Amino acid sequence: ERIMEIRRQNCNPMIMKVTYYKKPVLIHQGYMQWLWDVDGRRYLDLFAGVATVSVGSLPPESDGSSRAAVEEIYSEKLASYLPDPLKVVYLTNSGSEANDLAMLMARLHTGNFDIITLRGSYHGGSPQTMGLTSNAAYKYPIANGLGCTTTMCPDVFRGPWGGSHCRDSPVQTTRPCGCAQGHCMANDQYIGQLKETFATSVPSRIAAFFGEPIQGVGGAVQYPKNYLKDAYKLVREKGGVCIADEVQTGFGRTGSHFWGFQGHDVIPDMVTMAKGIGNGFPMGAVVTTPEIAAAFAKGVHFNTFGGNPVACAVGSSVLDVIKKDGTQQISLDVGTYLMTELAKLRDKYEIIGDVRGKGLQIGVEMVKDKASRDTLPPEAMSEIFEDIKDMGILIGKGGVYGQIFRIQPPMCITMEDADFFLAIFDKAIHNYMERR
Ligand code: PMP
Repeated sequence: ERIMEIRRQNCNPMIMKVTYYKKPVLIHQGYMQWLWDVDGRRYLDLFAGVATVSVGSLPPESDGSSRAAVEEIYSEKLASYLPDPLKVVYLTNSGSEANDLAMLMARLHTGNFDIITLRGSYHGGSPQTMGLTSNAAYKYPIANGLGCTTTMCPDVFRGPWGGSHCRDSPVQTTRPCGCAQGHCMANDQYIGQLKETFATSVPSRIAAFFGEPIQGVGGAVQYPKNYLKDAYKLVREKGGVCIADEVQTGFGRTGSHFWGFQGHDVIPDMVTMAKGIGNGFPMGAVVTTPEIAAAFAKGVHFNTFGGNPVACAVGSSVLDVIKKDGTQQISLDVGTYLMTELAKLRDKYEIIGDVRGKGLQIGVEMVKDKASRDTLPPEAMSEIFEDIKDMGILIGKGGVYGQIFRIQPPMCITMEDADFFLAIFDKAIHNYMERR
């Protein structure tokens, strides 16, 4: 109660607004994938501070020497994880800062201004990146009015089922492909929309195209196969650069690759990252090509805290833990297992519309029923969510309509944890259906 009072009196009111649970879960302590609240109750953490605690709370000590705390040494190490020609590292303190910087670099490099982002995207909360973000729930209407950016939202995703088909996913959905039914278009139609955006809105001024390899806040939304590849080609033809926002998808989260873009067979001109890079420590980065870096070097840029020794030591340690503990493989194995099993629950229950994602970035789309495809109302989502929490598991919510349960745990979880979750999720849905 005292904490609630402090929240009311002294904290950003947003905390109250976005508090997921009726009564906030006050986390006091964490170890790997486990969290304890102030009352000593243990929870399995399946959301990791929105995919931030990448390798677990208080991961094992890295064997990296103190040399890793030097910005240059860490930058070299981080760059070694990216394909050529992505070699120049700029360290920041957050994802928003990284995206702000990437926007600036793209504009200086191309001499153009306009930026294309995708419907349902989230790119940050700074005035500029809020302009990039299309997800209306996170946008203050004035953001674009600040004049920082021009955001185009080609209607890539239509309706709550957006993008859940035609995808390169280990799990094949059993429901009929929506393409013919108009809620999911084929790739050439999406690309057609992008072309139309160029023709009508950005005839020759494109600076950049931003895309999350899989939309995170948007609810594990995946693009049709080849969408990013074709979009990159088109954007480059028009003189723009392509930016992959890997804030959620990077560092092995998608399992099959270290970076989300690698699952699309593209190499971006810039990659932005944060969250999992520091396993909860505030840090972020932009990695780009020497050519773009040279254009940027014409001005003066510095970042007081970006690349500070503690951040570099933490970042280096995270890379060591990912390698040592094989967390990317865990993402692939446990993620694939979870999706396969969740797909069975989708077939069992009328209110699970779709299971999608890759590795340990999973979205479960909830509907009133499969025939109507109407989204499950927020009150029903909350009921199930509370029930899962009461049974000892914390998951996330997302999607433009708040209709997606998100599972993005620390990548140290086990198959037993997955089974524990599957049993509880099954039970929570069952409980809800009984009450309904
Ligand atoms: N990009 C993506 C894809 C994100 O999910 C987020 C955070 N949710 C950001 C950028 C912004 O990162 P930060 O909150 O560190 O500024």
